[in-house]
Amino acid sequence: MTCPLLYRFRVIDRLPEEPSPAATRGTVVHAALERLFDLPAAARTPEAARDLVEPEWLRLLAEEPELGRLFAAAADADAEAAQIAEFLAGARGLVDAYFRLEDPTRLEPAERELRVETSLESGLALRGYVDRLDVSPSGELRVVDYKTGKAPGEGFEAKALFQMRFYALVLWRTHGRVPSMLKLLYLGSGVEVTYSPDERDLRATERKIEAVWQAIARSHETGDWRPNPSRLCDWCDHRALCPAWGGTPPPLPAAALPGVAAEGSVDDAADEAPSPSTPADEV
Ligand code: SF4
Repeated sequence: MTCPLLYRFRVIDRLPEEPSPAATRGTVVHAALERLFDLPAAARTPEAARDLVEPEWLRLLAEEPELGRLFAAAADADAEAAQIAEFLAGARGLVDAYFRLEDPTRLEPAERELRVETSLESGLALRGYVDRLDVSPSGELRVVDYKTGKAPGEGFEAKALFQMRFYALVLWRTHGRVPSMLKLLYLGSGVEVTYSPDERDLRATERKIEAVWQAIARSHETGDWRPNPSRLCDWCDHRALCPAWGGTPPPLPAAALPGVAAEGSVDDAADEAPSPSTPADEV
């Protein structure tokens, strides 16, 4: 939806991207908030949540040692330790911000980091991860998504709403019930955005997803993956290969040459790209 060429670089060429401190901090904060609900309700204090930050960072670093490169430019070991301390302090600040939006001692999530997947009537598969799913005693669903950046500025709400509708559509298809509420918690600015979808909205979302997929399929058929320059380019790792910036893309992999049928699936990648108004929010 933002840039066909960026889609190609990420999904077809699978070009590596440099880890960013903002995205990594977001992953650590998500993990700490997920683990917070392992504790008994009364123990879910801000102090307990802050204490989860460093172990989650170390666990992530053990799983993805390349994240160590984030601080590799530090002049010496002391400077590196100072940078890591600042990074962790930033994550703890976001965890603190969470407590200004919700009281986790009063919540018992039904699911955390829930993988959701469904297929539309056309056969197109949709997949995504829901940060948290709350289910009321009467069976009503509330989807909660944590954003570690700031709330989108004017004109950029549509992207966040589309992501929420995407989740709602997949849950409607898998649970047979339209979620009664979708809630986005923007920890970077302490703002909560809620949205109550209905079936009409979700049918429109389904048509939009199908239209995006048709556009992707056309690009597969023609080999035409156009750059769509925007403020997003400021955070794009692939400018050196982008014609909009004087670069030349690599040849398409053989499996993606024009005429080779595309496999139909859409992952919710909305979180992975920063919106122009929230460059720090990559998760
Ligand atoms: S630099 Fe901009 S136009 Fe080029 S691929 Fe990246 S986002 Fe698209």
